[in-house]
Amino acid sequence: MTLEELGYTLEFENYRKEQNLDSFGVGRVISEHKERYVVKTSDKEYDGEIIGNLRFTAQSRSDFPAVGDWVAISEYDENKVLIHSVFPRKTIIERQAVGKQGEKQIIATNIDYAFIVQAVDRDFNINRIERYLTICNTSNVKPIIILNKIDLINEGALLKLITTVQERIKQVSVFPISNTSRQGFEKLIKRIERGSTYCLLGSSGVGKSTLLNSLLGKQLMKTNTISASTSKGRHITTHRELLVLENGGILIDNPGMREVGIADATDGLELTFEAIIELSKDCKFKDCTHTSEVGCAVLKAVESHGIDKSSYENFLKMEREKEHFESTVAEKRKKDKDFGKMIKNYKKRNKHNNI
Ligand code: GDP
Ligand code: ZN
Repeated sequence: MTLEELGYTLEFENYRKEQNLDSFGVGRVISEHKERYVVKTSDKEYDGEIIGNLRFTAQSRSDFPAVGDWVAISEYDENKVLIHSVFPRKTIIERQAVGKQGEKQIIATNIDYAFIVQAVDRDFNINRIERYLTICNTSNVKPIIILNKIDLINEGALLKLITTVQERIKQVSVFPISNTSRQGFEKLIKRIERGSTYCLLGSSGVGKSTLLNSLLGKQLMKTNTISASTSKGRHITTHRELLVLENGGILIDNPGMREVGIADATDGLELTFEAIIELSKDCKFKDCTHTSEVGCAVLKAVESHGIDKSSYENFLKMEREKEHFESTVAEKRKKDKDFGKMIKNYKKRNKHNNI
């Protein structure tokens, strides 16, 4: 397998040259488990460990390698590499860290496309699609909508659903499929580009695991687990979180991705609700909240059905969540900054004392 087939591009190669990293090897992080990494190169998979300097200069968790990252490596043992640096990320999918208000946790990086999976059965919910679109817009990941389980409804109902989606969400491709009947599968597979990286977004039960298995085909059993050794030399079995599909696409799937939710979307709202934002320029008050103000252009459009009411309600809900999230992020940034200063002072002091 070539590095290009793993997603390597000229951008990364240029960075490598600019930074004089020529003497290092290049690999992509395909799994992370408690600071033990599995790094895939064109011919091998290695256990990776970060060098002390990388750890020491890290300002926050996000400076550590994540699944999807391209890293500069050096081999120090048959199956072991040291990770010297993380290449700048094209895209980042992150989420609110569990139990840590305002702290973000990187789920995966360098993802080109997200499959937003929705089932067309009773759980179908267009607001939820919009929520995932917002995440894509925030992270610069291109969305593709997959309507799954089409074997459960008749053709008329499906056409109606597709129209509903396309009316509200413009310029995003929609792929109706069924894992059971394999309808729509060929088309979807043709859409997957060699060397591009994909992820699956969607709530539990919509069929993401089944889809992943279908895309992997018979490879699954042998590709899904890896044995990595811990620092104590103990062997553990972990899952590959980055998989190369038979037809050449790369798919990232990990537990964190399954939990990506709306709290993570900070500024993608503007794109998803472009029409609302555009209208809000005509509101009478600059700080209009579009909820009760006289002269609110948005409310007027909702009343005259120029804007879909549920889309509008979804917008308000996300705005509230976003505000809450941003205030906690601001607090966190300040703390990070203070922490960075503390480390710097500490290093300075130790230098003076010749320690
Ligand atoms: P996940 O939680 O998104 O990973 O969803 P799963 O892949 O575990 O699927 C949830 C349930 O939906 C399982 O019982 C699957 O067998 C079922 N399922 C998945 N795809 C389809 C489909 O295309 N048609 C039907 N009828 N059921 C499906
Ligand atoms: Zn307004």
